Amino acid sequence: MKLKNKIHLGTSVLLIVIVVLINTSIYFTASYMLKEADLERNAADAARTASGISSPAESVASSDLLRAYTPSDGMIRVILPNGTVDGVSVSQNTAALREREARYGNGEKRLVVETKNSSYAYAAIPVIWRSGEIALLERMESLQATDRILHILRLILIFISIIAVIPAVFSARILGAIISNPVEEMTKTMQHIRTRGTYERIQTKEKRHDELQDMAVTFNGMMDLLEENYRKQEAFVQNASHELKTPLTVIESYANLLKRRGRERPELWEESVEAIHEEAIRMKELTQQLLALARRGEGWDIKHEQIAIDEFVRETADAFEKAHQRPVAVHVAAPFIIHTDRSKLRQLLYIFLDNARKYSEEAVEIKVNKKEIRVIDRGIGIPADDLQKVFDRFYRVDRARSRKTGGFGLGLALAKEIADALDIKIRLESEESSGTTAILTFSEFSFSPVTLKEKQEEQL
Ligand code: ATP
Ligand code: MG
Repeated sequence: MKLKNKIHLGTSVLLIVIVVLINTSIYFTASYMLKEADLERNAADAARTASGISSPAESVASSDLLRAYTPSDGMIRVILPNGTVDGVSVSQNTAALREREARYGNGEKRLVVETKNSSYAYAAIPVIWRSGEIALLERMESLQATDRILHILRLILIFISIIAVIPAVFSARILGAIISNPVEEMTKTMQHIRTRGTYERIQTKEKRHDELQDMAVTFNGMMDLLEENYRKQEAFVQNASHELKTPLTVIESYANLLKRRGRERPELWEESVEAIHEEAIRMKELTQQLLALARRGEGWDIKHEQIAIDEFVRETADAFEKAHQRPVAVHVAAPFIIHTDRSKLRQLLYIFLDNARKYSEEAVEIKVNKKEIRVIDRGIGIPADDLQKVFDRFYRVDRARSRKTGGFGLGLALAKEIADALDIKIRLESEESSGTTAILTFSEFSFSPVTLKEKQEEQL
């Protein structure tokens, strides 16, 4: 069953049950109270009659005596202990009551008696009768007036129930539509997305502020994210294939050249092999970087160990100096010990040192202070507009120049991934033609107190 119909049916049934319950209880309470009042009145009248007829004159016949007390719509009679009726008086319109079986009993009684066509308030009281014996005085009075009132009340309540239920059923229908229409719309959009493979959005109404609107907004946000990720992925694949195409073209053209002229002109050999080798290395580097990026998160395999940052930075700088013949000056203002992955941190530092080397001519500087490592160069700098974009994959400020420096624009993207894995914040400060500073800030969690204690014990 559809949600709309479920809500409609459920709410309607519930409302009908509630209305019927309320009206039935109103009816029965009213009926009980009215009949109780009638019984009371009838019993009081019977008591009054009983005191009126006590010690009657011998000459008056019992029935005549009772006639004075006959109710306008009922009967009054006296039953002797042997079960015979010694005097009865019945109103005209209730003559049938005369035929009622007489049964003697002792003790007072009051109840509602139902006959074929009507109901009566019944009261029985013992009285001391002429012969001195204890007889039973019965008084019955029709409840017709009360029954009429109850009949009208019943009609009114049925009418009210119908009047209340019709709009309730309609509003339940509307409620069902209010809830399920946006859901249906969302489902339709999702089906479109699935069949057409597009990133569609659900129409949102600015005036509405409810959970369904929130759901639509969240869904649209999710679509934005998916679309952005898809575009990024697409751009990534395009860029990667483009980057691979260049070295492949170079290799192909040199191979062609060797095939056609290699035998006649042996001097081409050296140049071609050199070029092919260089491009192969470039391709290897690129694929390594791509693999590292593709692995992201799950493949990182972080091995925490405690590292004295001053020693670590000096070691890294020395290795870098030797590999690239570029001086790296290390200044340690406040050394500290951290708990992190040594080889990942080295890789991270290398990415920044490599950029500093490529994009500047002078010595590179590393400063260690409090929770930070700063890699500073006095090179060409990064334009302010590009400062955030340089972390995107394959983003290079100056493509032509980067080709010369041999970069793919993947270094900083990888740095960001590594930094996230190590819980390190990276920030770039740069000014064009005066230099760039990369700031690596360690999170509080990298400073394990246990590690610090251990280090102090080691030093003692
Ligand atoms: P790769 O690191 O993949 O070999 P790359 O160095 O070009 O190539 P990134 O390290 O991601 O790529 O840097 C992206 C771009 O940011 C660079 O192309 C360069 O334009 C700019 N950039 C990065 N660091 C510096 C810096 N220290 N000085 C000037 N420009 C920089
Ligand atoms: Mg780089």
